[in-house]
Amino acid sequence: MQSPVFGMAVEQFDQVADFLELEEEIRERCKWPKRMITVTMPVRLDDGRIEVFFGHRVQHHLSRGPVKGGLRYHPSVDLGEVAALAMWMNWKCALMRLPFGGAKGGIACDPRAMSLGEQERLTRRFAIEILPFIGQEIDIMAPDMGTNEQTMAWLVDVYSTHAGHLVPGIVTGKPVELQGSEGRRQATGHGVAFTATRALEKLGIPVDGAIAVVQGFGNVGSYAASTMARYGMRVCGISDVSGAVWNDKGLNILALNEHVAEHGGVAGFPGGEGIDPEEMLLQECDVLVPAALERVITKNNAGKLRCRVLAEGANGPTTPEADAIIEERGDVFLVPDVLCNAGGVTVSYFEWVQNLQRMSWTEQEVMAKLETMLEGAFVRLLQFAEREKVGHRTAALALGICEVAEVKRKRGLFP
Ligand code: NAD
Repeated sequence: MQSPVFGMAVEQFDQVADFLELEEEIRERCKWPKRMITVTMPVRLDDGRIEVFFGHRVQHHLSRGPVKGGLRYHPSVDLGEVAALAMWMNWKCALMRLPFGGAKGGIACDPRAMSLGEQERLTRRFAIEILPFIGQEIDIMAPDMGTNEQTMAWLVDVYSTHAGHLVPGIVTGKPVELQGSEGRRQATGHGVAFTATRALEKLGIPVDGAIAVVQGFGNVGSYAASTMARYGMRVCGISDVSGAVWNDKGLNILALNEHVAEHGGVAGFPGGEGIDPEEMLLQECDVLVPAALERVITKNNAGKLRCRVLAEGANGPTTPEADAIIEERGDVFLVPDVLCNAGGVTVSYFEWVQNLQRMSWTEQEVMAKLETMLEGAFVRLLQFAEREKVGHRTAALALGICEVAEVKRKRGLFP
């Protein structure tokens, strides 16, 4: 597949597979996606025209259980990007020891330019097109960029209508009223804050009063910021697409949430001063959380970072060149994305388990179980990195790949 982002995922895999000395046949079986489904969807727009949209679903492998992964609505979605994200999701589920393979889906569209009705018709048509390939024991979707709880509710409705009974386990990240899980909304940000503070503790830096800087104030960034503030940290800098704000004493996250709800972005927040968003990333701090876009820590700024912990809330915020610089420097504790933002998929797993059992857990139960699982993965990662003398990114990917490879060896080859 000729795609730069899929090429990057394959290159990362090959490097780790070399390091693990994976045998050739297992390597090939782990590397390539099991299923790549592309569908077209004619949708009637509000003005009466019909537009045909392209949608994709990639199921990387089904050896460890059903596949799990988000559904993204964005103009830049293509099969290569979806396949790369499915592959990364794979290693994340395996690192966390969740009984899932990785998947990802996406539709090339701009949801911000579409009415709710157009989004609903598109979502329902997509659900119908991929109906033969999904199921609560086959492929379970979740929200990602451009999709939300409402999108998941429409998917539940289409699937359940065809099944003839309610099947809430077909997706996660759905509304709590529709058997979504307590705690799912804040799970990713909570996991970011939890793993970042575990890193501070490892470095011997007191959490109370530690300075944090967060790029992105959406689902991940806002909950990471509020949780870190609750832990006693000073969140001094926050940026989003509108700009960046800074306060040496720590921003009031509750007030900032209210400001964003009213004005649509952090810019102009009276509880801080404006700062250049690029400069903000380079301020001296204890924890830096990129929680917005891919490829924001690059070879141009990696050498200039002045954080002690880099906690990757976003997927793929650090380029391979920047990774090499950070590893060479040796003074930045990296919490790699596959661990740092794994709180989302972990609570999605809890949601699925609750749906299958027709049970519902309290938020406290969910958060306690989440922290136990993150702690286990955090410890496994550090032990592997120390034992094998490798960086945290390599350690995280290697642990995930080893889990998948071992299952494939044990299951053998059909026929
Ligand atoms: P979101 O759409 O809720 O928020 C994105 C935020 O980034 C917004 O505040 C937006 O203004 C900001 N942003 C956009 N461009 C920016 C820029 N140039 N500079 C600074 N900020 C900018 O998305 P989200 O769900 O919070 O996801 C963020 C990242 O985390 C993505 O990489 C996503 O794949 C990853 N992630 C999300 C989850 C989850 O559960 N939501 C789980 C795992 C990983």
